[in-house]
This record gives sequence, structure tokens and C-alpha cells, in this order.
Amino acid sequence: MSTADGLIMVGSWNAGPAVERAAMQAARGTALLDAVVEGIGLIEDDPEEMSVGYGGLPNEAGVVELDAAVMDGRTHKAGAVAGLKGVRHAAKVALNVLRRTDHALLVGEGALAFARQCGFKEEDLLTAKAREAWLAWKASLSTRDAWIGPDDETTGFGGALWAGHKANPTPGGPPTPSTPAVPAPGRSGGAPKVPFTFGTVHVSALNAPGGDLCSCTSTSGLSYKIPGRAGDTPVIGAGLYTDNAVGSAGCTGRGEATVHNCSAFHAVVLMESGMSATEAALGALKRLVSRTIEARLLSAPGRPGFNVTLYALRKDGDAGAASVLPGYTYVRWRGGRRELLECPSVFPS
Ligand code: ASP
Repeated sequence: MSTADGLIMVGSWNAGPAVERAAMQAARGTALLDAVVEGIGLIEDDPEEMSVGYGGLPNEAGVVELDAAVMDGRTHKAGAVAGLKGVRHAAKVALNVLRRTDHALLVGEGALAFARQCGFKEEDLLTAKAREAWLAWKASLSTRDAWIGPDDETTGFGGALWAGHKANPTPGGPPTPSTPAVPAPGRSGGAPKVPFTFGTVHVSALNAPGGDLCSCTSTSGLSYKIPGRAGDTPVIGAGLYTDNAVGSAGCTGRGEATVHNCSAFHAVVLMESGMSATEAALGALKRLVSRTIEARLLSAPGRPGFNVTLYALRKDGDAGAASVLPGYTYVRWRGGRRELLECPSVFPS
């Protein structure tokens, strides 16, 4: 029997190639967490996956900033990086934080300096496709700036400047109220044409029922975020948590919500109380929903306008996932094959 025969994994919908590769590596004798990180590396390499690694959508300044974390159940130790620029394999850098340092989280310049010291290659992570998406986003933001979108005939920005100039001809003279910018005809408002991701790749793994657990998540985070924003992915207990005595959990979706609710940790605690993996994922999400109070975050009373998906794996091998909103899927690896399954959701329709 191969060491990978009892392997069970659960992860995000886009983790299919990652779990395949992880299983292959584990069968060759690679340690489970290393195998999972290697699998996730495939997703980080994929330029078409615009929510992770190379090709990920950038921050509002057009720079790709990556977050990643790993947690090893055997040592109960985690490693993470936040705001990492120029290194596509953020999960492997996080693994190096776990292995080579006494720290749990390195950020920004420090994370990059550390990656350099570990020998990681630096490159521009912004692909032409991601740059176009970012430019489209900039053009969609406002009629009062100088960026023009593809369906804009004018921008109100030049008009507003000119109006101000005419009304106030003396340089340095007293300001005169300028003519308000006329909304540009055809201004799209942005939403339909601008690629925007809530996306991330997560895998929680168990080498055999009753065995050792680990987890890994990697993401380029919220598209067009404020530079320096770290999401939930590198926050241990929010985006990911593994307890070798109980189980493992990870999140994708609106990171601020899982940070505010310690959702991955909560799901593990619910599994410890005896819930199944699916019940625990749903239970943690129900709490998150009940604590989502701000009107701007709700699409209807009590109903968040955003999704979070929570993946859960118990030490006995029970695996599941749940989402806040309907229509989301997850990947499960069991018995040597992968399946794409529908998530039960807090709001079934
Ligand atoms: N959780 C990620 C973040 O907030 C994004 C996502 O999974 O969609 O950075």
C-alpha cells in the first residue's frame, strides 16, 4: 500500500491540479505539507488564475501583492507572508518562514528580503492581462478623473479643469467655484467589464484517518486593494487553522469577514465539539453572517452581499465545506481521486 492511499484533502474549487500534484508527491514519499505546497505552486504558476501568484490581479497601484500561509499539525507551527511582491511562490516562502525562522508572519519588504535570502527568484508578477484589467478598473472608477474607459466618449475631468481655469484666470487668485463636471456619456460605472476576483487557493490535508494534518493557502488577495492590505490568508486562525488533535480548516472569500470572526479557528473548535466537517463549516459561517451588521455589507436584511467559503477536514477523515451564498463548489480528494462538489450554503437560494 502506498503512503498516499489514505490521503484525504479538501480545498477550494480551483485546487484540483494542486491536490493531484500533492497526492503524486506524497506517493513518492514527500512530506505531506511539502507535497501540498508543491501542488499549490502549480496554481501560483498559472497566469490564467488571476487570484493567485503570477498573473494575480494587482493592488490599486498596479502592483501584485501576495499573501500565503501554511500550518503543520505535527508541530502546531505556522508560517505566513503578507504583501509579498515579486516572488510568485508565496506558499513556499511561507513554508520557509515556518521551517527556517522562529516567527509566524513576515510582511512586505521584510518578507521579500527573507525570500531573497532563501534564494527565491524575483520577477514582475503583473501579466499583460492583469495590467489591462487594472487599467479598466482605474478607468471605471470615476467620471472626475483623467482615465477614459473603452466606452467613454469623454471624461468629466478635463471639463472640470477647464471650467475652473476660465472662472479663475488669475494664477494664485481667489478660488471660484468651478462648474461641476458633467457625467461623461457612456460611462459604464465599471462593474460589468472589470475583472475582479474574490479568489484564493486553499488545501487542507490528512495523510490517513487518524493521522497528521496540515494546510496551505495562497492568494493575490482582494483585487485593487489598498497597497499594504493583508487579507485573512496570512492571519492564522482567520484564513486557515490546523490542530493535529482535531482537524483543519481554511477560508476563501471576503477576508475581512473571516478576520473579524476567526472563522477557520472557529470551524476547528466546532469540529472539536463533535460536529461533522460540513456542520462545523456551516456553523462558523452562520456566526459570521449573524455578526455582519453594517448595512453596506448586506444585500437584504440579515443577508451578506458577499461570499465566504469554508473548507473543513476532521482528523477521522470526514471532509466538507460550506459557503454563505449558494452556487459555490469545493474539491475533495479521497480514495485516490478528486471530485468537485457543491457546497451547502447558509442561504440555500
Ligand atoms: N480571502 C482572500 C482575501 O480576502 C480573497 C479571496 O479568497 O477571495 O484576501
